[in-house]
Amino acid sequence: MHMHYFTIEQRETLQAQLQARAAALREEIAAALRASGKPEAIGLANHLDEIDDDAVADLETSLDVAALERDVRELRETEGALRRLHTPEYGVCAECGAEIPFARLHANPAAARCLACQARLEHAQSAPRSR
Ligand SMILES: [Zn+2]
Repeated sequence: MHMHYFTIEQRETLQAQLQARAAALREEIAAALRASGKPEAIGLANHLDEIDDDAVADLETSLDVAALERDVRELRETEGALRRLHTPEYGVCAECGAEIPFARLHANPAAARCLACQARLEHAQSAPRSR
């Protein structure tokens, strides 16, 4: 199987970035849930390992659910990347199998696809995303 060879320093850099991002997202999500003052939301804040889009969608609150769902999705992607980081899958495009350049991963360590495949996917969905 094809795999991406990173230096130890590169892998450690990406790991630190992913861990920092996951921690920031967890804090952001928990703060937003707690700020709602709703018991279900506060309960979710204490169980972020179980949170997903459906749980967020079920909350009938004045929360910015779309923003929260975006954060939850990014948290899941970030955690997934952390799990893959030490496997041969990490840094290899999930679509075409090409190596994702370190520069792209450095900018977005949770990236699962090369730029070309990501652009094609976003074009196919034709749902404009902010990043
Ligand atoms: Zn690709």
